Amino acid sequence: MERFDAVDVIRTKRDREVLSDDQIDWVIDAYTRGVVADEQMASLAMAIFLNGMNRHEIARWANAMIASGERMDFSSLPRPTSDKHSTGGVGDKITLPLAPLVASFGVAVPQLSGRGLGHTGGTLDKMEAIKGWQANISNEQMYRQLGTGSGAIICAAGSGLAPADKKLYALRDITSTVECIPLIATSIMSKKIAEGTGSLVLDVKVGSGAFMKNIEDARDLAHTMVDLGTDAGVNTVALLSDMSVPLGLTIGNALEVRESVEVLAGGGPDDVVELTLALAREMLTAAGQPDADPEAALKDGRAMDAWREMVSEQGGDPDAPLPVATHQEDVLADRDGVLTDVDALKVGVASWRLGAGRARKEDPVQAGAGIELFARPGDRVTKGQKIATLHTDTPDRFERAKESLHGTLTIDPGGQPTPRESVVLERIRH
Ligand code: URA
Repeated sequence: MERFDAVDVIRTKRDREVLSDDQIDWVIDAYTRGVVADEQMASLAMAIFLNGMNRHEIARWANAMIASGERMDFSSLPRPTSDKHSTGGVGDKITLPLAPLVASFGVAVPQLSGRGLGHTGGTLDKMEAIKGWQANISNEQMYRQLGTGSGAIICAAGSGLAPADKKLYALRDITSTVECIPLIATSIMSKKIAEGTGSLVLDVKVGSGAFMKNIEDARDLAHTMVDLGTDAGVNTVALLSDMSVPLGLTIGNALEVRESVEVLAGGGPDDVVELTLALAREMLTAAGQPDADPEAALKDGRAMDAWREMVSEQGGDPDAPLPVATHQEDVLADRDGVLTDVDALKVGVASWRLGAGRARKEDPVQAGAGIELFARPGDRVTKGQKIATLHTDTPDRFERAKESLHGTLTIDPGGQPTPRESVVLERIRH
């Protein structure tokens, strides 16, 4: 005999009342067991989307999602652990240079990652552009790699962590209930807390290419997640970072691996380097090394050595050439002037349409597809200059990709060049 009826729980939230602890515990558990049907959970998610949840409901919801599965425990590792999570954006390859960089200081960095859906790329899809690299790793190998190996791991999250979230996230994706602060915060934090890291740095993206389009919403999401982490005993801090333009100059799986390797070699675009270093400093401070110098580790090869070790540990060949798409098409400046706008969402959708991303979770991705940029907003360009190259293995995709670039990559003939502002906008802690 069930303790509640799903219809009563839905009605409570529909009528803007507060869900009780017991209602929340029950509905998450019953949904995981298949007693609450998808259409009932979809209705409750929409009621939460429209009417919100208070801080107490949010904390209880997160705990119920954690309790739906197993918890990992890294406390027996000989190294402190520090983790990073990004709310997702276009060209966001930061995990690739960041994990080995932080690991090169003797900190264990477990990056349990996902695949891309829609216009934002997935870290596993990027890593799979490397010949031989494996995303699925046993728990034994994970502990070995973190404890006595390179110290960094990027791998697929096992199905045992927060299974309620797996079901609910897939349902939200097809019922237009993703962009909801209580649901995003509990989804992300239930997985991160269940993962058992000692400290966590959140990269909360703001702008057209992110879930949060304005800074107020991003702050609210960041505070909600920092509070959930802190209350669970995880040392949590958030950086808000700009996602109105793509991060770096490449969007697409192999293209982003190439740019990440440039960063690990001490080069790479300024914004990727700035964000990698800002997140690394936070992670190292949280792991007890406030004076560590991650910039030096990018320059002197320590981070690169950790990257090569991490890639090899998972069967990858760090020296293998990266896949290149079979077809390229350049986008040229149609006048002299200053590039005023490179919209993250439009570029992300174009890259997705070229084959870098997937529309359904079972679709394959093209490793070589994507977009390479040669100018940033604020740069002076001259007529005929190449400002972007589109890459794909299926040239009939070019037209649709170019359609999504309409209204961006715009050039102002009378504009003045401007330097790019800092990509890190704010820092938020408890
Ligand atoms: N990432 C998640 O894991 N969950 C969300 O709800 C949104 C982004």
